Amino acid sequence: MQIRKHFRFEAAHVLAHHAGKCARMHGHSYRLEVAVSGTLQTDGPATGMVMDFDTIKELVKTRVIDVLDHTTLNDTIENPTCERIVLWIWEHLAAGLSGLDELVLWETANSCAILRASDFR
Ligand SMILES: [Zn+2]
Repeated sequence: MQIRKHFRFEAAHVLAHHAGKCARMHGHSYRLEVAVSGTLQTDGPATGMVMDFDTIKELVKTRVIDVLDHTTLNDTIENPTCERIVLWIWEHLAAGLSGLDELVLWETANSCAILRASDFR
């Protein structure tokens, strides 16, 4: 089963290689979906769950949101396109979040990048 949690953060970026207006500094209200897959646990505090939503929330908050929220993404990620940001998020979550299955990063209401565990196989 897959479970999914949504997050938001605000950040600025500039895309130096872009031929259009994204070459100017601007900001986005990013929306991040974090999907974890696994079997239902049969004992312990997360019995009946794939993973406690609070566990996902804490990991994403400390490893991603607290680092990127209200920052200029170029200070952390080189050429921070939506695709490169979602790759950075994966690299910072995967080690601590077993079962990480899919990330969806919405840069605008209509544009997103999707990274799946199967992309690494
Ligand atoms: Zn942009």
